[in-house]
Amino acid sequence: LSGRLSGVFDKLTRQGALTDEDISTALREVRVALLEADVSLPVARDFVKAVSEKARGQAVTKSITPGQQVVKIVHDALVDMLKGEGPAGELKIDSPPAPILMVGLQGSGKTTTTAKLAKRLKEREGKRILLASLDTRRPAAMEQLAILALQVGVDSLPIVAGQTAVDIARRAKQQAALGGYDVVMLDTAGRLHIDDELMDEVTAVRDVAKPRETLLVVDGLTGQDAVNVAEQFDGRVGISGVVLTRMDGDGRGGAALSMRAVTGKPIRFVGLGERMDALEEFHPERVAGRILGMGDIVALVEKAQETLEQEAAERMVKRFQKGQFNMNDLRSQLEQMQKMGGMQGMMSMLPGMGKMQKQMDDAGIDDRVLRRQVALIDSMTKKERRSPDLLQASRKKRIAAGAGLEVSDLNKLLKMHRQMADVMKKMGGMSKKSLLRGGLGAM
Ligand code: GDP
Ligand code: MG
Repeated sequence: LSGRLSGVFDKLTRQGALTDEDISTALREVRVALLEADVSLPVARDFVKAVSEKARGQAVTKSITPGQQVVKIVHDALVDMLKGEGPAGELKIDSPPAPILMVGLQGSGKTTTTAKLAKRLKEREGKRILLASLDTRRPAAMEQLAILALQVGVDSLPIVAGQTAVDIARRAKQQAALGGYDVVMLDTAGRLHIDDELMDEVTAVRDVAKPRETLLVVDGLTGQDAVNVAEQFDGRVGISGVVLTRMDGDGRGGAALSMRAVTGKPIRFVGLGERMDALEEFHPERVAGRILGMGDIVALVEKAQETLEQEAAERMVKRFQKGQFNMNDLRSQLEQMQKMGGMQGMMSMLPGMGKMQKQMDDAGIDDRVLRRQVALIDSMTKKERRSPDLLQASRKKRIAAGAGLEVSDLNKLLKMHRQMADVMKKMGGMSKKSLLRGGLGAM
């Protein structure tokens, strides 16, 4: 498939403006690629139409070919469409005990995801979590959750025989309030197919639990079926987000795109295996790459993007050579590192790379830290960004408050800026070429 796509794009190697014919040829193949990735037909059709309107009349950036240009437009449009508002992995779990309701079909990975998410919230945010299984039909399912809870080191609600799902939900909420838990996660029963009994039960549980988040867990390999499931659950129960499991498998992730298009609900996390740490925040870029067919096509896109970024990088090198490095420069660097967060996730898909990822985690290279630093810079005035020396106590307070953080966080950022500015000064003497080769990417 990706061979077919790149074949088409290889033909579009001339330089010059995008012609309507270039666009139609390329988009015909994109449409096939989408369908093969299990994107539903109406969604694929709408998507291609929107992209074709966007592509028409776009000038071709110098040093990339029309084919690459189309890939980039398609890729960016995919990312846009996959992206929800706000950071994917952040849940509304203030006002403890915050109930999270986990819903979905049987076998979709609800119980596993419940435990994975509990582990993540405990480790990353220091939350105290209580897990409760509402799967009254299968006693083994309750034990499964209890065992997983033990494994990830969080508490689970004691199992009491003979209670209904609604009873258990009520008991879980009480227990969570009494026990001072931050989050109570309710793992509901699933069915093989959606039926009224299931929906009625989940709706009744929802009314008692009043969840802050209702996460629909769907098997990323089920393609179009997943979309119907999402539509039904959203229509009848109301969901706040989606977790796509089995994204470690061979599926192309087209379900993600259809689901976004149909429900408009954000995809929060993806499951990447059976292990308790195989859950990560949803990265639209990565799924877009998968849908288009990873490898060569994505490499092409990246090449196109590199070309665009090259100009920005060259401008920056000129500034460094003059010994200039202000908060705007730091912000660009942080954004670059955020993109590496994407890489971190790519590595987790490759066997044997877990150790390297752990090193990155230990070093504190984490999307969340980077996002906070960017938020701090964003809450500075233009003048302050240009001359960070202006930052006295009252300004610092204002900036930290603006980003919802502490002055100590800002001080850390300022220290990092000073250190980097020093390095920049030293590098000022280096040639432009060696800066572009080694310096920028590595920082
Ligand atoms: P539930 O019926 O919805 O609660 O599903 P379970 O959580 O019991 O999961 C069913 C099976 O899918 C289990 O064997 C899990 O280990 C497996 N599973 C869950 N999530 C993932 C995932 O992201 N990747 C893979 N490969 N397997 C998963
Ligand atoms: Mg289960």
